[in-house]
Amino acid sequence: MTNPLLSQWDTPFEIAPFDQIQDSDFAPALDIALAADKAQIDAIAQSDEVPTFANVIEALEAPCPELEQVLSVFYSVAGADSNPAREALQREFSPKLAAHFSAITANKALYARVKYVWDQHNTQDLSDEQQRVLMLTHRGFVRGGAALEGAEDARMQEIKSRLAILGTDFTQNLLADERDWFMALSEDDLTGLPQFLVEAARAAGQEKGLDGPAVTLSRSLITPFLKFSSRRDLRKRAFEAWAARGANGGESDNREIAAETLKLREERAKLLGYETFAAYKLETEMAKAPSAVRDLLMQVWKPAKAQAEADAKVLNKMMRDDGINGDLEPWDWRYYAEKRRKAEHDLDEAELKPYFQLDRMIEASFDCATRLFGLEFKPLDVALYHEDCRAWEVTRNGQHVAVFIGDYFARSSKRSGAWCSAMRSQATYPEVATPVVINVCNFAKGDPALLSYDDARTLFHEFGHALHQMLSNVTYESISGTSVARDFVELPSQLYEHWLDVPEVLGKFATHAETGAPMPVEMRDRVLAASTFDMGFQTVEYVASALVDLAFHDGPAPRDPMAKQAEVLEKIGMPKAIIMRHATPHFAHVFAGDGYSSGYYSYMWSEVMDADAFEAFEEAGGAFDSERAEALEAHILSTGGSRDPAELYTAFRGRLPGVDALLKGRGLAAK
Ligand SMILES: [Zn+2]
Repeated sequence: MTNPLLSQWDTPFEIAPFDQIQDSDFAPALDIALAADKAQIDAIAQSDEVPTFANVIEALEAPCPELEQVLSVFYSVAGADSNPAREALQREFSPKLAAHFSAITANKALYARVKYVWDQHNTQDLSDEQQRVLMLTHRGFVRGGAALEGAEDARMQEIKSRLAILGTDFTQNLLADERDWFMALSEDDLTGLPQFLVEAARAAGQEKGLDGPAVTLSRSLITPFLKFSSRRDLRKRAFEAWAARGANGGESDNREIAAETLKLREERAKLLGYETFAAYKLETEMAKAPSAVRDLLMQVWKPAKAQAEADAKVLNKMMRDDGINGDLEPWDWRYYAEKRRKAEHDLDEAELKPYFQLDRMIEASFDCATRLFGLEFKPLDVALYHEDCRAWEVTRNGQHVAVFIGDYFARSSKRSGAWCSAMRSQATYPEVATPVVINVCNFAKGDPALLSYDDARTLFHEFGHALHQMLSNVTYESISGTSVARDFVELPSQLYEHWLDVPEVLGKFATHAETGAPMPVEMRDRVLAASTFDMGFQTVEYVASALVDLAFHDGPAPRDPMAKQAEVLEKIGMPKAIIMRHATPHFAHVFAGDGYSSGYYSYMWSEVMDADAFEAFEEAGGAFDSERAEALEAHILSTGGSRDPAELYTAFRGRLPGVDALLKGRGLAAK
């Protein structure tokens, strides 16, 4: 029998025939597809023809269809509907795939042909998009080390494998510290804690083999404990253990690992011809240079710190009213902030929830896309990988645009979090491919399914990513949809969240599950006001981490990262009652791999843009201004990575983004 992963799909819109695929099909299909892909790459590398854009760069843009099919189906089910067989396959596939793709970058014959085409990029008759794809392809090879020879090449390989080991060690040490520590609680210690926390503490105690409840360093337990426990002594003990993760001495200490990692990164950047690791990392980002990142962070730092200091005074007074003298300490902040939140913005989750029905929120996200971009959504009956998945055909003026799939409910076979991926990306080369896009979430099932306000934001966020994929209109797959710089990719998603907060959207779609009545205006206002609460604290802990990350990589690697961290915090005047969101020994974004190294800033960079971009609508005719919507599609949602992100943003907004809208959105603007 033929393997369904390797045959041509004759399903509606060529969606993968999930009902015909068995787990046992994956391994043989992957081997065949990898061999076919390798043969295709070898043919490009070993061709006798004079290298041209068409026979090198464009040929690389027509990936082996079998490999695309196997991977898109496998990644879909491995993330959203796993089982022991699929987990085993994943362990088997990861090193195979890593080896396959790094062999392409390391292929000297292929690089020679790419370089030949690149060296003549000024004399060839190429479109802007082709020029961009050529530049990105060549740059990708160079950054991967393809241009290095002899001893330098060998050293690069050594550095890469050592860095991979250090990243894994860092993560495992952190997990060990988080796993080992716990604090047993007596029944009295539970007084005043909310029911969900009492239950979680009991479950944690049981898991540790204790007779009674316990607090562990799991974020879902420690954070609410610091928020709700009135026992200052216990909060202090728990907080100190939490803050010391990765810095407890002995086998699991991460400080030496951090120092060696920074040193090797610097050497790697220098081998590739960059002054610093930050310069190497930021070259591919919208920010481009460390100075741009520092400027932005410092513009946000000052007002955030001022707000945090004002908030600290209020909290300190609350503490004194409790009869405690002395300074507000880091283990006091969350506790008094929670008390203050209750007093000033009391929102009863139970009262709020019936207004956020999943089906109504899906409708709301679709309705905004109809009003902004003219998209229509029609339910589609196709076999998918799980019965909870739903599909829609997306059209515009009667023309097919995309297939959108929603897989909304939590289940044990799904990894946590929420994400958007393309089972098929938009492209017109080598043939027209329309997108098949999926949003995966972890909402609680129910009848009707009800969301929290945060869940509803997540739904809009992921749908924003989906629009970036579905409205993509480029020639080549490598720059399609969300294939853009890391500090640009969250713009469409975070921007779309703003439409949830538009009063007329909430007014129309936030209706009570039982009575059908719209959410009372006064409740809606409270929901919106609560979103800026304690932003001084949140911004300070985040920006401090981002500045330390940048300082680590923007210059010679520090011999003692802890001393460097202290120096940066001293220089910016870190408020005493707040610590970094992630201190160096447990800063996994930066040290578990290099994904977010000198890139932790990018969350805020995107937020600056989304706030500024939404303001463009408000300045024009409002949230549904049609000219702005057209510009958003023309310059951002349809363009993928076909142009430099700063150029794209400027085309949409008429200028680069400023921080004012973000400060206003976080309640940090000068009052
Ligand atoms: Zn996102």
